[in-house]
Amino acid sequence: MKIFNTLSRKKEEFVPLTPGQVKMYVCGPTVYNLIHIGNARPMIVFDTVRRYFEYKGYDVQYVSNFTDVDDKIIKKAIEEGVNADTVSRRYIEECKKDMAAMNVKTATVHPQATQEISGMLDMIQTLIDNGHAYVAADGTVYFRTSSFKEYGKLSHKNLEDLQSGFREIKVTGEEGKEDPSDFVLWKPKKEGEPYWESPWCDGRPGWHIECSVMSKRYLGEQIDIHAGGEDLIFPHHENEIAQSECANGRSFATYWMHNAFLNIDNRKMSKSLGNFFTVREISEKYDLQVLRFFMLSAHYRSPLNFSAELMEASKNGLDRILTCVGKLKDLEANASEGAAVGEEEAGLGEAAKLKRKFEAAMEDDFNTADAVSAVFELVKLANSTADETSAKSYVVSLKATIQELCDVLGIITEKQAEVLDGDVEEMIAARQQARKDKNFALADEIRGKLLDMGIVLEDTREGVKWKRV
Ligand SMILES: [Zn+2]
Repeated sequence: MKIFNTLSRKKEEFVPLTPGQVKMYVCGPTVYNLIHIGNARPMIVFDTVRRYFEYKGYDVQYVSNFTDVDDKIIKKAIEEGVNADTVSRRYIEECKKDMAAMNVKTATVHPQATQEISGMLDMIQTLIDNGHAYVAADGTVYFRTSSFKEYGKLSHKNLEDLQSGFREIKVTGEEGKEDPSDFVLWKPKKEGEPYWESPWCDGRPGWHIECSVMSKRYLGEQIDIHAGGEDLIFPHHENEIAQSECANGRSFATYWMHNAFLNIDNRKMSKSLGNFFTVREISEKYDLQVLRFFMLSAHYRSPLNFSAELMEASKNGLDRILTCVGKLKDLEANASEGAAVGEEEAGLGEAAKLKRKFEAAMEDDFNTADAVSAVFELVKLANSTADETSAKSYVVSLKATIQELCDVLGIITEKQAEVLDGDVEEMIAARQQARKDKNFALADEIRGKLLDMGIVLEDTREGVKWKRV
């Protein structure tokens, strides 16, 4: 299995620290609002990575944090006149609902920064004791980047360039820094903000230290994969490496994986451009399985463009798979017992080949785009070879293969097939209404849409009947 490692900028063969096990840490969201679709991409992508490892029989320990102390959370709490804790608790709950609707598995542990302060105090003290951190006059603790010779190895930046770049930027309140590229581990409290006692000052942690501490606590000093969005490479992940490797005296993560950005209509998503969507907003229009399927239609390291047209295309593609599974389910119920022979035997051979194609795509740095095409080829095979005359074993085998691969992608096929029935009924009712209104163009359009989904209508004296083709 090959993984593109940001550290080496190369695809490398995956070799776990312990055979049969994968220790994986994925940076989670800062919980001050409903998550947006940009947040959803790493959740879906790395959940799929996890599912593939599990499919291959690995025991995966998957840790993903919630950052629940941060300027944005505090700002929101002040605006609402409530505690920061109230804000973060609310949005952790909402985030979990969205993750469930996107079929993102619950992590082995979902730690929260505010629950891990004592571990942070310990790691910061270790860094001070071994000369990698220092305390400024106002009690702020900084990491001394010049003490870590490998600083910049992940983002492929050179410390001297970084230092000269930083010299331009003067941050108020950070005058106690020895060097502009040093970063905060602990900072003094401000009026009205949550704080914790520490040997240096009453205050709160910087952002980066939490992931080093939580990763160590739940997965150990060394892990296999550390992942997140590419915007986290610098400074967040670079700083995590510095903290963890200087505190633990050994290398941190073997593989660093980063997903590319999500654009909206070919532009960067931003509130000011009015092209900002929360996952919740998308859920009002689509089943979130469609969003998941859309996210997996591109390779995770390629920028992905979100648009209404592409979402519609994903919806249609997903419907094609779900309709096929529904059809196989119906055939299974009525098929006669018997072994697959002749053409069906050849069909089974073809299905096995497509399954290997799916696996080869996933093992080439999780190329879900190619994996999805293998599933479409299976659907095509099933649609063209399975019918009322098929042997039960053939139908069952095709259905099991499609479902097994969909499960790796996190796509639920059976439940969705039931929901689909409801969708069909709804569309038929809309077509009946259109006919009543003598809007025959609309009625025909709906019939055409149903046909695209593999649904054939039959107008009978008892009313409209429909079947899958
Ligand atoms: Zn992190």
